[in-house]
Amino acid sequence: MTHRDDALAHCDSYFDGGQFERELARRIAFKTESNLAGCEAALASYLDDEMIPYLTDMGFICETYANPRADAGPFLVARRDEGAGLPTVMTYGHGDVVAGYDDQWDNGMDPWKITKQGNRWYGRGTADNKGQHTINLAALKSVLDTRGSLGFNVILLIEMGEERGSPGLKDFCAAHKDLFKADVFIASDGPRIHPDKPTIFMGSRGVFNFTMRLDVHAGGHHSGNWGGLLTNPGVVMAHAIASMIDRNGKILVEGWRNTQIPNSVRAAIAKLEVGGGENAPEINPDWGEPDMTLGERVFASNTFEIRAFETGNPKSPANAIPPSAVAFGHMRYVVGTDVDQLMPLLRTHLDKHGFSDIEIISERDPMYATRLDPDHPWAQWAIDSLTDTNGAEIAVIPNLGGSLPNDVFADVLDLPTIWVPHSYAGCSQHAPNEHILEGTTKSALRLMTGLWWDLGAGKTPKPAAQ
Ligand SMILES: [Zn+2]
Repeated sequence: MTHRDDALAHCDSYFDGGQFERELARRIAFKTESNLAGCEAALASYLDDEMIPYLTDMGFICETYANPRADAGPFLVARRDEGAGLPTVMTYGHGDVVAGYDDQWDNGMDPWKITKQGNRWYGRGTADNKGQHTINLAALKSVLDTRGSLGFNVILLIEMGEERGSPGLKDFCAAHKDLFKADVFIASDGPRIHPDKPTIFMGSRGVFNFTMRLDVHAGGHHSGNWGGLLTNPGVVMAHAIASMIDRNGKILVEGWRNTQIPNSVRAAIAKLEVGGGENAPEINPDWGEPDMTLGERVFASNTFEIRAFETGNPKSPANAIPPSAVAFGHMRYVVGTDVDQLMPLLRTHLDKHGFSDIEIISERDPMYATRLDPDHPWAQWAIDSLTDTNGAEIAVIPNLGGSLPNDVFADVLDLPTIWVPHSYAGCSQHAPNEHILEGTTKSALRLMTGLWWDLGAGKTPKPAAQ
């Protein structure tokens, strides 16, 4: 008779014996910089030479699939089946990283090797996402080695283009829904709310970018000759922006605000401590949606930002009336907002306020908002398991304030989605000096081992009646 504690002890000795470091170091060495030209060989090699041998050894059947987009990296689908009556989990990771910026790391550190300094382990991909999926797979192996079987089925999807916005992921999953029939989705990416506070989130806010342009004159005109006679597009644009959001960050465009927060979401957010931590700026408590708490403002409200705003030439201002003005708008939005209505609502707003001349240009595909209710049986099950391993309350974030392609799993594959992040906000992902924290990593290994253990121990939520 083996126990949960044996599996936890197994993963502790796996870490303490240096095996985690060796596995992660091997993976960090692949220069899988998906946003650089010429990365194709490294992307394929990460799957063929690292993941497939490792997973095959653990009893997975592996198959790689070409990306439906000719310019993007392959997908790996690996399955480990133990039986039809058992729960099936879909899990996910991405093996690509952003560029290494090799010359810009402190103390000449090599981004393609692990450098340990105190609690920090530096290297490109340590936090995003190689470290995170290495933790989850090692935890899976701890359960397998301890119990002899998992007690559940696993479908693993590894993509190699997440840092480029996951090209082809949605189409691939939509075309292969049969490959991803599961009871629950559990994966890891992104930061904990605090390095010492185990965290779970069940979705993310969406993102929508757009541009507002006002072209009034064919060129600049001398302000002495024409000032007072010609419309200044910069001033008009400033007034347009002022009509969209007030002095304290409250959105004024009708239909853009989210004011409906489900009670379960409100209750979960009420327990979260917002802000603080390394390199964190001081919060402006009077900014944002006035009737919401700070937590609700970042996790449960729609927010509108101006990312950039230009008229004339700020680098070399001329005594002239500029010909045009441009403002780059940005929204983060929550579940319940119809993203397709955001621009029609803005058009109506601008027309109503006398800004019909301002052109609106929508940028690229939006990232969609998702959120599993914190009261969902699978969310509750995961919270219980993680709390049990942690021995204290964990942080439950209904949805991340930032964004990830969770709509593919939540909406296209229709799975309850659970994310257990193993990094923290100060990890410098996407920048030089990316790192994970040793203490957080050890704790994450235990949390995931406990979670996988419990998944195979019965007592999981029953599938909803078909
Ligand atoms: Zn990333």
